[in-house]
Amino acid sequence: MTDRKILLSEKDIPQKWYNIAPDLKTPLAPPLHPATHKPLGPEDLAPLFPMALIAQEMCPDPFIEIPDEILDVLKLWRPTPLVRALSLEKALKTKARIYYKNESVSPAGSHKPNTSVAQVYYNKQEGVKRIATETGAGQWGSALAFACSLFGLECQVYMVRVSYDQKPYRKMLMQTWGGKVAASPSTLTKYGRAVLEKDPGNPGSLGLAISEAVEDAVGRDDTKYSLGSVLNHVLLHQTIIGLEAIEQLKSIGEKNPDVVIGCVGGGSNFAGLAFPFLKDKLKGKTNPKVIAVEPMSCPTLTKGLYEYDFGDMAGMTPLVKMYTLGHDFMPPSIHAGGLRYHGMAPLVSNLAKDKVIEPRAYHQIECFASAVLFARTEGIIPAPESSHAIHCAIDEAKKAKDGEVIIFNLSGHGHFDMASYDKYFSGQLEDYEYPMELIKAALKTVPKV
Ligand SMILES: *Cc1c(COP(=O)(O)O)cnc(C)c1O
Repeated sequence: MTDRKILLSEKDIPQKWYNIAPDLKTPLAPPLHPATHKPLGPEDLAPLFPMALIAQEMCPDPFIEIPDEILDVLKLWRPTPLVRALSLEKALKTKARIYYKNESVSPAGSHKPNTSVAQVYYNKQEGVKRIATETGAGQWGSALAFACSLFGLECQVYMVRVSYDQKPYRKMLMQTWGGKVAASPSTLTKYGRAVLEKDPGNPGSLGLAISEAVEDAVGRDDTKYSLGSVLNHVLLHQTIIGLEAIEQLKSIGEKNPDVVIGCVGGGSNFAGLAFPFLKDKLKGKTNPKVIAVEPMSCPTLTKGLYEYDFGDMAGMTPLVKMYTLGHDFMPPSIHAGGLRYHGMAPLVSNLAKDKVIEPRAYHQIECFASAVLFARTEGIIPAPESSHAIHCAIDEAKKAKDGEVIIFNLSGHGHFDMASYDKYFSGQLEDYEYPMELIKAALKTVPKV
C-alpha cells in the first residue's frame, strides 16, 4: 500500500534556510528611500527592523544557518507532513501523483509562524520589547501574537476594519496569545485619525494598516515593526517548507516534481515551497513548471505593472521594484482575505518578470468548488487562500500525462473562514474581475523614479 503521509523526524529538520537572491538570473533591483529615491542602506531600515533581519534582507550567501532557539520552537509542529492526495487523485481519475505540504498544522493554522517565530527571536536578541504589525484576515496577527507570547514580547496588531468586524474569532486568537488588537483605521496613530476624520466609515486595507503599524514602530524606542510577507527575509524563513519537501520526496524515491504550485498574496508561502525547487531550475538541471496563483479580483502578477512602488498606502515604506496594482489599491471584498495585497514580493516579481515562474489567476467560485472537493476527499477544510493552489493543482492534474508529479502548498486551514463557505453554499458569492480602467487609474499613482 502507498503511504499517505511522508514524515521526517525532528532530527531531520533543515538546519539552514535557502536564500535565492544570489541565484537569480537578473540581480534584484535595490530598494529605494521613499523620499530621496536613493538606494537604501542598512541604517535606513534600523528604526523598523533588528540588524540581524536587515542583514538577511541584503544577504549575498545562498544558505543561512537557523539558530537552535528557533528550531526548538518550530519543532512544536515541524517538520510538517507531505501528504500524497490519494483520495483526490482517485476522485479526479488523474494519471498524476499529487502531493501537498500541510502547513495548516501550525498552532496558528498556517505557514506564517515559520517567519513570526524567527522574527520575534531576532527582535528579542536585540532587546526589543514590543512589536507592531498589521493584519488583514488575521492570519499574520495571530502568528505574530503566538510567537510573541512564546518569547515574552508585547504585540500590537492593526487589523483591517472589515476583517475585525467580520472575523471576530481571529481577534480572539490574538488576544488569547496576549496580543493587543486595534481596528484599522484606528485612533492610535496620526495617519489613522486623519483617515477617520475624512471618512469615518473607512473599511480599511492592508496598505493602510501597514502605515499605522510603521508609524507606531517609528514613534517608539521600545518597538519595532514586523511584516508577514513580501520582504526577502520573510520569504527566506519560509524556505524550510520546500527544503523539507525535497527531503520527503527523496525519502520515498519520488522523482523531481513536474509542477510546483502555491497561492500568492505577498508571495511568502509560494516562495517557501517553490524557491528550493527553483535552485536546480535556475542552474538548468531541472525544468519544473512553477505556478503562482492569485485571485482574478487582485491580479497583481497577471495584470499589474512591474515598477517601483510603496508597500503601504501613506508612502512611508521603502520603494521596491515589484508587480503592483498601485499603493492606493482598495481591494474588493473577496473571501481570500490574505490574497488582497496590492504588491508582490520583489523576489517573486523578479522571477515572474524573467519567466522562471508562471503567474495564473482564478475566480473565487471555482476555487471554492475545488476546496469543497478537497475537503470531501482529503478531509482538511482549506483556507480560501489555499483553495487557489488546490484549484490549480486540480486543473493541472486533469490534463496531466501518466506519472506526472504535482506538488502544492496547503498554506492553511479554513476553520476561521466558515462564514465564507456558508456564503458559497448559499449562492451569495460573486466572481469579480478587477477592471483594467481601475488598474490604469491606480498606476498613475506609482511614483516616478
Ligand atoms: C497570509 C496567507 C496567504 C497569503 O500570503 P503569502 O505571503 O502570499 O503566503 C496564503 N494562505 C494563507 C493560509 C495565509 O494565511
